[in-house]
Amino acid sequence: MNLPCGLPDTRDESQHLRELLDHNTDWIWEVDAQGRYTYVSRMVTAMLGYPPEQVLGKTPFDFMPPAEARRVGQAFGAIVAEQRPFAGLVNRNQRADGSIVVLETSGVPLFDTQGRLVGYRGIDRDISSLGERVLQLEAVYESSPVAQCTVDREGRMVMSNRAMARLLGCEPEQLAHAGLQQLMPEAWQQVQADFGCLDAGGALQEYEFAWRQRWFYVSPQALRDARGDVVGLSMAWLDISARRQAEHHLTEANRLLAQYARQDYLTGLFNRRHLDEQLGAELARARREGQPVSLCMADVDYFKRYNDNLGHLAGDDCLRAVARALDRSAMRPTDIVGRYGGEEFVFILPATDAAGALSVAEHLCRQVQGLALPHPDSPLRRVSISVGVTTWMPGPAGGRHAPHQDGSLAGALLRQADQALYQAKEQGRNRVACLPMEPQGPTG
Ligand code: GH3
Ligand code: MG
Ligand code: MG
Repeated sequence: MNLPCGLPDTRDESQHLRELLDHNTDWIWEVDAQGRYTYVSRMVTAMLGYPPEQVLGKTPFDFMPPAEARRVGQAFGAIVAEQRPFAGLVNRNQRADGSIVVLETSGVPLFDTQGRLVGYRGIDRDISSLGERVLQLEAVYESSPVAQCTVDREGRMVMSNRAMARLLGCEPEQLAHAGLQQLMPEAWQQVQADFGCLDAGGALQEYEFAWRQRWFYVSPQALRDARGDVVGLSMAWLDISARRQAEHHLTEANRLLAQYARQDYLTGLFNRRHLDEQLGAELARARREGQPVSLCMADVDYFKRYNDNLGHLAGDDCLRAVARALDRSAMRPTDIVGRYGGEEFVFILPATDAAGALSVAEHLCRQVQGLALPHPDSPLRRVSISVGVTTWMPGPAGGRHAPHQDGSLAGALLRQADQALYQAKEQGRNRVACLPMEPQGPTG
């Protein structure tokens, strides 16, 4: 019979195939369902130093040092359990002469007609020169305390380490080829944005990311193929929860400090420092807007006698009660109430003229009297206050004080209010006295 030109007869063909297998630089093999070699090409001798007949019937783990056999056994166990193909499984083997050879193994499962797994077929390649390095890098990656992973453009986890599995609360095997979309939907959104940014020619930014009550500093890195196309994204996730918490505490501590710095510890009202700052700011604003500013200075009457009769602690309670009453009396959100010192309180009334300030001051007197706090040694028999009022109105050119003199203007305003207060005391207390501001010069 004439065979078609170029095709060898059956015997020649199998001989030809065997030669191809034996002369391939890779070692080609088959194992049964128990992992025992049922076929090995001649190249096994070059790799392991044993003739084929000494390899047949053994398993790959018989040629590995014990620790390596355990490590690879675990990885291979997971592959067999899923009956899936595998590639690039790096493993160390002991040759017949005792030396170590690093092989890279790939294989596909074999099934019988009923679909039962009957073994694997695959190849081993000697990567000793590169392999040790790969294993070392893998060990570093695997044991890094920083969670790391690499995803492809579809979001599949192509590589991840133990720390990443811990972060996600699952076993490392569960991560192999799992989808970031399901594992961390919020992170997937960011990763998609990163791919978009890379495709548009942009550079990736590091970012901070909240995940299950923890904070992470994420550093993404583009993975490119030989043509330079972005094929994946590698990410390191550094847990910065402790730092974020410390920052939060610091912010809170600073907020409290800022609050304490302007608060009077006894009454909770603003303190003198804040009142001075605010008065300066309000005067500058009044000058810009051509609006008046009024000041009320209130002082508890016969307070020394109150302390002497009822004790200093009762005196403190009394000051707190007066402070609350005064605070409640502030009618506009812009009014500023504070304790200026001792039993003296100051009201800054922006955009309020003399008539308005007078009615506020009278209201204050009534409010304190309305508290009906008994005072055993006052002619009124109850706690009262006297109030001095003054008002400043910027003139067409900002009054007699230039802007840089707002500090001395504030001082002059306070002295004038104090002067008015003195008059109210002189006139019998529990009353209001007003003094205009304009006649006063910059130095009072
Ligand atoms: P006047 O009617 O003229 O204002 O008389 P006064 O007794 O209120 O004025 P004086 O300035 O003689 O006394 C003020 C008193 O206020 C003396 C001081 O012991 C008391 N005082 C100041 N600060 C506090 C405080 O924080 N707590 C208490 N309990 N007393 C204070
Ligand atoms: Mg007093
Ligand atoms: Mg006083």
